Amino acid sequence: MRTIMTVYGTRPEAIKVAPIVKALQRSQTLRPHVVVTGQHRAMLDQVNEAFGIEPEADLDIFAPGQGLETTAAKTLERLTPVLKESRPDALVVQGDTSSAFVAGLAAFYQQIPVFHVEAGLRTETIWSPFPEEGNRRLLTRISSLHLAPTSVSKQNLLGEGVDPTTIAVTGNTVIDALLETVASPRPYQNEELAGLELTGRKLILVTSHRRESWGEPMERTAKALREIALREPDVQLVLPLHANPLVQDIFRPALEDLDNVLLTASLSYTDFAQLTAAATLVVTDSGGVQEEAPSLGKPVLVLRENTERPEAVDAGTVKLIGTDSERIITEVSRLLHEPAHYESMANAVNPYGDGKAAARTVAAIEQFFGLGDRLADFGGES
Ligand code: UDP
Repeated sequence: MRTIMTVYGTRPEAIKVAPIVKALQRSQTLRPHVVVTGQHRAMLDQVNEAFGIEPEADLDIFAPGQGLETTAAKTLERLTPVLKESRPDALVVQGDTSSAFVAGLAAFYQQIPVFHVEAGLRTETIWSPFPEEGNRRLLTRISSLHLAPTSVSKQNLLGEGVDPTTIAVTGNTVIDALLETVASPRPYQNEELAGLELTGRKLILVTSHRRESWGEPMERTAKALREIALREPDVQLVLPLHANPLVQDIFRPALEDLDNVLLTASLSYTDFAQLTAAATLVVTDSGGVQEEAPSLGKPVLVLRENTERPEAVDAGTVKLIGTDSERIITEVSRLLHEPAHYESMANAVNPYGDGKAAARTVAAIEQFFGLGDRLADFGGES
């Protein structure tokens, strides 16, 4: 048995790694070893619980207000002894957080191969999104196996000179998690959500918490949402808010007095997936949500100037609108009141996956160790 260690710490990482851990558990030749870094304590535990995953080690690196340098230093310092003791055959990291990059670096220093899940996403500048774009480019340089979600991401890697034999196009594991979750609907766990009368009302689901949105961009978004809620009394807005005070202190004062706005704590993954399925449209700065909502046929307005996920923009389901208040109001209003425009964006498209990304990932890992064959690439490329 080869041991495949995986290290993750944020909610989106947990959601995207969970299907891989489950697939590793089913493998005859590989076994998972789960280590968490613990940045998003409550949200992380909650995702692990939802997927029935029990971490074998917890690096507990989080402290409120901690800078990137401290997160990075603690990850390197605390993961290294775990790697030395367990000597896994490889380390799997996902995406582009600083802890993912530094976990990769720690494995590289121990001469343990790094396998990068969701490899090859790119914007045009290393500074945006910060620090994610830098983290994922750096991870590419030290990885031995690149699990690219789409052929676009594969092309990005090839353009940087990555050896094609080390790239597998898997689809994104977030679609595995989503399809499995929405397939068996359950009542909302969140009481406020369960108590909302949503039948027949248009629901706008909003999430915004990325570092680059903090401050003025988020103020402009909050202002636009207030205006939308006042102009559209029959529309229900739901904002699951990140615990971060930088997020709470903007959205709460701007929106908490409005009857048709529900400000909740972050939702469980099952609630969130089901709420996306129930929504009329989604407004977000999240990467994962940009991937999930299109597969449920929901128009997505993205509160960012650029995206490393162009596939659904090209398919017409996602639109980049930035954070100008007037623009947000106009784009939301068009989707609410112009049925032809709504229909043109509401096509269910699956550019990010078909629910088999974890199986392709595990097959690519088995092939890396000479233990099996790869599956055909997602999107038909071999
Ligand atoms: N999500 C969740 N509960 C929420 C909001 C989001 O479970 O209240 C999930 C969502 O389904 C998606 C992921 O969290 O899979 C996105 O995480 P986030 O926006 O934090 O990060 P990003 O995708 O931008 O890296």
